[in-house]
Amino acid sequence: MAKDLSKTEWHGIPRTEIPWFPTINDDKCIGCQLCYVSCGREVFEFDDDRRKAVVERKYNCLVGCTTCATICPAGAIDFPPKDFIQKLEKEYKILKVVRETAQEKKTKKEYEEARAKAAELLNKVVTAVEFEVTGHFAERQIMAKFYNAIKDDPCDVIYISIETPSLKDCWKEQAPSYAKFRLVSTEYADITPYAEKIKQVLKDNNVVLVAERKTA
Ligand code: SF4
Ligand code: SF4
Repeated sequence: MAKDLSKTEWHGIPRTEIPWFPTINDDKCIGCQLCYVSCGREVFEFDDDRRKAVVERKYNCLVGCTTCATICPAGAIDFPPKDFIQKLEKEYKILKVVRETAQEKKTKKEYEEARAKAAELLNKVVTAVEFEVTGHFAERQIMAKFYNAIKDDPCDVIYISIETPSLKDCWKEQAPSYAKFRLVSTEYADITPYAEKIKQVLKDNNVVLVAERKTA
């Protein structure tokens, strides 16, 4: 089934409020089917009887794209004038939405990069100790405390995963959360002193050590 992108938004504007889509001049169309096979958004169908391309899903068209018009060998495809998009951008003040989207994109990218870095680090790890802990650490900024404890040491805490059974239970009823993380070093086989620092932070914050196991 062909995709329907008409319910999507373009930088906060409902797609159906934007009259940006191709129109085909039937007299010029030579039925080459290039637009039909090239548009990845399935805007076109091809009428075999008339040997003409047909704009079937106009709101699937990507706002600002003119690829099909550019490649049409007969010049049979038209779009609104060039300044249409600029007027639209001003009218709907989309730049604020664009800034927010750009920030989200940047944050996701930074997360992916940090994740890749951690994976790379894991490949070089000489020693790893996995900790499982439980307690009221969410509101105690325990990660910052871990960081301060080991920031000058040849080790790191990676793959921190936190599990909270329910947000309301956690904040209102003070139910404890659960976390798992690994203390790793790419330099030293014996990281006992650094593990002790982590354990001291746990103790100082009344976080219970459930398990501690060497994984590398
Ligand atoms: S690319 Fe142009 S000529 Fe070819 S089918 Fe599409 S509209 Fe017609
Ligand atoms: S402009 Fe781009 S997205 Fe729109 S119909 Fe043409 S090729 Fe498809």
